[in-house]
Amino acid sequence: MPAYDPNNIFAKILRGELPCYKIYEDDKAFAFLDIMPRASGHALVLPKTPARNILDVSPDDLAHVMKVAQKIAKASVEVFAADGVTIQQFNENAGGQVVFHLHVHVIPRKIGVAMKPPASVKEAPDVLAEQAKQLAAALR
Ligand code: 5GP
Repeated sequence: MPAYDPNNIFAKILRGELPCYKIYEDDKAFAFLDIMPRASGHALVLPKTPARNILDVSPDDLAHVMKVAQKIAKASVEVFAADGVTIQQFNENAGGQVVFHLHVHVIPRKIGVAMKPPASVKEAPDVLAEQAKQLAAALR
């Protein structure tokens, strides 16, 4: 498998070199909103340690990311009155991965509302800012 590329877009977000709509941070994980959500409130959870995907992440970092994904899933249900939550995690091109720093997608779902195709529609900045504020408050 290819080596981790420290210039991937999520590495730049983690280093504060690019902006994001942050919702959660602890010593080992970081979470923010997807700017092209597959459904309203779509969040991404990352380990802070460089890891390309599930094939090179440490088991402990992976377990922690999943714990945070669960917290965010519960907060999403509360904040967005979601009927369910879809969790996705892609590995390598063949597995559907586009950004090569491990991330878990947490996608709140409503009955009868289909997910949009990946990276199809950019959400309005004011909507993302408001959602991030609400989710961050629910995660405190
Ligand atoms: P992957 O297919 O690698 O699991 O998904 C990458 C995700 O990153 C996609 O859902 C896409 O919408 C999202 N994405 C791409 N560029 C950016 C960005 O600059 N900021 C944020 N917050 N999300 C991004």
